[in-house]
Amino acid sequence: MLVQEVMNTRPLCVNSNARLGPAIQQMTDSSHSCIVVIEQEKPCGIITERDIAKAFADAFDDCEKLKDAFSQHVSDIMTSNPVCIDAGMSCPDALTLSRSRSLRHLPVVDNEGCLIGIVTQTSLMNAFASLLNEQARLETSLEELRALSLEDPLMKIGNRRAMEVDLNYTAAEAERHQRSYALALFDIDFFKRYNDRYGHLEGDEALRKVADGIKQSIRDSDRTYRYGGEEILVLMPDTNEEQAAICAERVRSTIESLQLEHQDGKDGILTISGGYATHAGDHWESMIERADEALYQAKNSGRNAIAAANSP
Ligand code: GH3
Ligand code: MG
Ligand code: MG
Repeated sequence: MLVQEVMNTRPLCVNSNARLGPAIQQMTDSSHSCIVVIEQEKPCGIITERDIAKAFADAFDDCEKLKDAFSQHVSDIMTSNPVCIDAGMSCPDALTLSRSRSLRHLPVVDNEGCLIGIVTQTSLMNAFASLLNEQARLETSLEELRALSLEDPLMKIGNRRAMEVDLNYTAAEAERHQRSYALALFDIDFFKRYNDRYGHLEGDEALRKVADGIKQSIRDSDRTYRYGGEEILVLMPDTNEEQAAICAERVRSTIESLQLEHQDGKDGILTISGGYATHAGDHWESMIERADEALYQAKNSGRNAIAAANSP
């Protein structure tokens, strides 16, 4: 936010030979908290309420002194050569300047040094506060948007956040009803080579096809999530070891049967490997770790393979 957006473009200004009395009258009438003294449109001084209070401090109990004070010229009490700023200055910079120099009013000038407005420390503080509010609001809504988004935009399956939410829910339900559940982690074989040969866009297309293939090969009650780059996690509620093995194998063979060309892959087609783990009293994070170790074994055994996790 720039000074020009918050400045008052109609400051109260008088010439330096103006009398103080009428100037104060104008200030009261127009509810201005300062007077800018100008010569040929350029600020040469500034008078604030504080300056006026000082000028009249010892004149209140003496009528003659009071009259004298009123008939002074504004130049007698003004602060000469006030600090002026450019309309293009940012509000935080102007606020820093006004605070560091203890200036409550900053005349704003154009390129020629002519007065075009005035900005107060209060209006700068308000602008700054509203900037902070706006920033906090944007951050909150970004957070909210992120929280609301549960789908991976590329694969159109659950994202990592959705996975964590569902895993927590599934784990709690399994515990409550004394049921088992399982999960499987799949990873595309030689996918780096796929990208290298066919390009990243084709790689993305392959990821979509693999995700679709996996979705089609699982039960309605199972859920699919993008775990990492080309790694997909399938959550299988109400599933025991034997059923998990069948499901994981069906997923693997479905992708194999898509016969997606991958010249640098295993047997010239795109394949996946997987590891699965059944709940054995451990936390789901530990189940994922076990499934990941099993996946590693499946890769080591030659890929396009499934392996069961060890007990925790
Ligand atoms: P391995 O059989 O051992 O899994 O070998 P790999 O080449 O598949 O394994 P690696 O982890 O080395 O490579 C994963 C590749 O997946 C590298 C990365 O560029 C690619 N990848 C990850 N996310 C995306 C994506 O969103 N789009 C595309 N096109 N590629 C991705
Ligand atoms: Mg990987
Ligand atoms: Mg891989």
